[in-house]
Parts: sequence; C-alpha cells; structure tokens
Amino acid sequence: MSDSSSENLANQSPPKKRKRINVRKPDVMAKVEAEVSNHYKSSVVEMLREHGGKITLNNTTIKLAQQFGFCYGVERAIDLAYASRKVFETNPIYLIGEIIHNQEVNRQLKEMDIVSLPWEQMDEQYDQLNENDVVIVPAFGAPTSFIEKIEQRGASIVDTTCGDVMKVWRRVRTYAKEGYTSIIHGKAGHEETRATASHALGTEKNGQYLIILTLDDTEFVCNYISGKISDEAFMEKFGENNVSPGFDPALHLKQVGVANQTTMLKSETEEIQQLITAAVIERDGNAVNCQVFDTICGATQERQDALFDMLKEPMDLLLVVGGYNSSNTAHLVEIGQEELPTFFIRDASCIESLEQIVHFDLEQKSEITSEYNNLLDQETHVFVGITAGASCPNNLIEDTILRVCELRGIAKSDILDK
Ligand code: SF4
Repeated sequence: MSDSSSENLANQSPPKKRKRINVRKPDVMAKVEAEVSNHYKSSVVEMLREHGGKITLNNTTIKLAQQFGFCYGVERAIDLAYASRKVFETNPIYLIGEIIHNQEVNRQLKEMDIVSLPWEQMDEQYDQLNENDVVIVPAFGAPTSFIEKIEQRGASIVDTTCGDVMKVWRRVRTYAKEGYTSIIHGKAGHEETRATASHALGTEKNGQYLIILTLDDTEFVCNYISGKISDEAFMEKFGENNVSPGFDPALHLKQVGVANQTTMLKSETEEIQQLITAAVIERDGNAVNCQVFDTICGATQERQDALFDMLKEPMDLLLVVGGYNSSNTAHLVEIGQEELPTFFIRDASCIESLEQIVHFDLEQKSEITSEYNNLLDQETHVFVGITAGASCPNNLIEDTILRVCELRGIAKSDILDK
C-alpha cells in the first residue's frame, strides 16, 4: 500500500484493472514444496501411517483416523501463499483474513511479511491498495465486493479459493439465474458462507439468499413455508445478517434452492434438504419449486467417514486437533462427543497434564479446562484416538501424539523404533 491517504487516492483516476496472477511455476513450486514440507511434515505421523494408523507401546494405544489433517484445498492454498512470496520477493503482500483456520500456518505467513487485512468488512486499507501490491484470496474465497475493490485498485490477485468452494458458487449463481432463492446451510459469520452469499446474488445482483445454521432454523423456515408463521416473525428471527438486502419471505421463499457450506455435517445437511423439500411439497403439491444440491466437499466427507469408522472400535478418549474457528474440525468434535469423551484442542500444549486438558467447548463457545482422570493410572491400559481437521498440519498432530506419550512415559525414540 502507498502512504497516501484514501482521501488523496480518491481524487486520482482509478488504476488499471490487473489480471489474476498464476504463481504456480515449476521452479517456484519445487522450492515451495521443500519449505512447506519442512514446516509441516511429521516423521511420527508417517511412521504411524505405515503401521496402519495404530500403535501400542506399553499400556498405551494411539490410533489415528484413516483420513485427517490437511486436505487438497488447504495444501494448495498454502503452496500458493508461499509461492507468492517467492514470485513477489519485494512487493507488499496482503491476505484477506486468514489463509486457513490454523494459527500455526497463519503465523508462518506473518513471518514472511504477508499482512492480514480485515475479512469481515473492508476498511481504508483496501482503499489504499495500489498496483505494486499483491492480495492473496484465502481457501474459503472472499465476497465479490472485496474482489471488485481489489481489482479496481489495480492490485494483483493470487486466488487460492478451493475448487470445491467455487462449485458451490456456481450452484448458487445458477439458482439466482433461474429465480430461485439460495437457502445456504452454513455459519453466517464464516468467511466461506459470506463469500457464497455474495455469489447467491448472481451476476445480475438480483438474486436472494437466506442463511440457516440449525435444524431449529430449518423448522422455522418450514413452518413459514407451511403458512404457520408471519412475515414479521420470520424477519425478526433471521434479521438482516442472514438474508440478502431487500429479502421478502412472502416473495422470496416461493422458489428455493438449498446449498451448503462445504464443511458442514453431512447428516444434518441431508436432513435440512429433506425437511425443506417436504415443506415445499406440502405447500405446492410437488417439488418443482425446490432444488437441492449437496455441496459438502470430498475432504470433509472423508474425514467424517473416517471418524465414524474409527469410532467402531472402543476407545477411552478422542482428541480432535484444529483451529477453534474451523468449521470442519468442530463437526468432527460433534461426531466424537456422541460416543466418548472428546476434547477439541488447538495443539499439544492443551494437554496440560495427565489430569487436565484445556479444550474448546462448542456449547460455551470458549476454551475451558476439564479434568480427565482416565489417563492418570499408568497401570491401566489407555486407548487414545486422534483426528484433525482439514486445516491442521501434521507437525501439530505429531506434537499431540508425543505429548500423550510423554505423559504416559513413552519417548519419541520408542515410537520411531517401533
Ligand atoms: S475443506 Fe473442502 S472446501 Fe475447504 S479447502 Fe479443504 S477441500 Fe476445499
């Protein structure tokens, strides 16, 4: 960014719109691969994978889910962010919010002088971007208004938006084109859902959307469709943040198309699709005015399926490693909590001792400390399951394995010698 104030820049003619930059050049990617591997790889995780994901030492068994950690979209986003710094060695590089929901990865980017810009709304920093600047769009994407502003300022864009997220955007743009309102199952305050909502307005910006999160929200929408709830009550519940500008439920719930944030719980998304379809059929006598499309990404699905599979074997506790604002990680926690004591931990430092685990509580939406006595007794066999969200690097998973082992009197060398 230049030092000029936004006021001065406002008086200048807008810079020329710049093209998106492809930083994926073979020589650059070779260097990036080595650096990324150095930052995030884990010999312990590799070894465990070679043992089918399960290892028993003394009276401690550790089992990893068959699918966990970095997904293809996250790997690509990190590669492109690292490559940006190699291609633009001296240019100011900015990032909209976080590249992914993991503080370790974001810390590494900060060390490369990649500066995070606000993602919830644009501030004057966006007005000050210029042609010398590079802006990285994170894996979740960004609202169309952000991209338009960056392009208008003439800054270069390195777009790391995951292909699976773009698939959702194509779907909601089609809904808008066909006159269907997008009902988006997602978190209204999540980067991806905000970006998807902006695309639900369509290329003509005349589309509509409604964001719902829970089955309670869905029931409310279904009751409205069935004529049991007034317009006022509907708008009072969903307010301005969950609907498109000018949203009128009487007009805009006549034709609806369901889509979802890529990282939601599959079973919940399916239930939502069924409930809304049933409500439309009850109202219209057929489902012509309702479209559904499963937009859960393959990586999220694989991690959820792998956890269900792992839970078939009895375990004493489950550790789910990942950023507290990571949606796909939170859903893994929800799945685990149904079956056994489950702790959502940021990293290994959360396992303070054999008695105490610091973890994120999904109900309270805050970090709390819980007592866990089953790890205490060194004489008793303990079976610990570990999985991680799509934004969690292997080195954090390794640290977690090593921490559990350390507390149970097992050294890293014992694991690697196995
Ligand atoms: S979780 Fe899915 S949508 Fe998100 S980056 Fe990974 S592959 Fe893409």
